[in-house]
Amino acid sequence: MGTYQTTLLGREKIAAWTMAFHLAKPAGFTFKAGQAIDVVLSDQAGMDEGNARHTFSIVTAPFEDKLTIATRMRDTPFKRHLKDLPDGSPIGIDGPSGSLLLHNRHDRAAIMIAGGIGITPFVSILRQAATDPLPRRLVLLYSNHRPEDTAFLAELQALERSNENFRLLATMTRMSDSSEPWAGATGAIDAKLLGEVSAELAAPIYYLAGPPAMVAAMRQTLNDAGVDDDDLRSEEFYGY
Ligand SMILES: Cc1cc2nc3c(=O)[nH]c(=O)nc-3n(C[C@H](O)[C@H](O)[C@H](O)COP(=O)(O)OP(=O)(O)OC[C@H]3O[C@@H](n4cnc5c(N)ncnc54)[C@H](O)[C@@H]3O)c2cc1C
Repeated sequence: MGTYQTTLLGREKIAAWTMAFHLAKPAGFTFKAGQAIDVVLSDQAGMDEGNARHTFSIVTAPFEDKLTIATRMRDTPFKRHLKDLPDGSPIGIDGPSGSLLLHNRHDRAAIMIAGGIGITPFVSILRQAATDPLPRRLVLLYSNHRPEDTAFLAELQALERSNENFRLLATMTRMSDSSEPWAGATGAIDAKLLGEVSAELAAPIYYLAGPPAMVAAMRQTLNDAGVDDDDLRSEEFYGY
């Protein structure tokens, strides 16, 4: 964990109300796929020390030459300030932190479960895994309201096509509000779906990321299905 100064390289919209921000990777900064950083904005009008710092999982993989974060753009002091920062602005980062790291044993599958913007650490893990020469079964269950809200969907679909060890199961829970077509699954990730996915895999380890309420509900469902806490790793996005 260290403190670094970096620069905002640019930003892009990646889903409804959702933006990615690209930061230069400071010299000497290293991290593992699945880890997070604190982004520290300089104190400005409307920002006090408490809300100038927010934690974000890193979307980019360790082999990439920049650091990307992605977030839902709510109308809060931190996000208003971040959205309006000109490209080239200085930004502080602290990190890396977090232990949502893929296990080492390749004979055990990973089942990743993401709610909404909880996808961010898994994009890093999956990009890194695409370069991994050892086969390991990876499954991603990814729940969103609508396809419009689903960040990185096209990239994840492409990763599934190019990696026979990776299966994507995206599900939409509010298609009645959507104007985009969707031929995939609908409805929440529940015990039945988890049971079907898990049954095909040997001794999976489960990874959860997203808003605290979603992570708590999934953890309970998995515990009720007999999954031991030793086989369950989670990252709660406090603040949602
Ligand atoms: C390990 C980790 C990884 C995260 N990764 C992402 C990510 O990839 N993308 C993303 O959009 N968000 C991520 N978050 C959440 C993010 O840090 C913000 O809390 C969230 O984006 C809400 O910020 P806001 O400006 O919309 O709301 P704010 O109004 O700034 O925050 C909402 C409320 O949450 C409280 N709060 C904020 N942070 C914390 C905290 N760490 N612990 C307890 N309470 C808190 C605030 O005090 C406030 O009351 C992550 C959080 C953690 C801990």
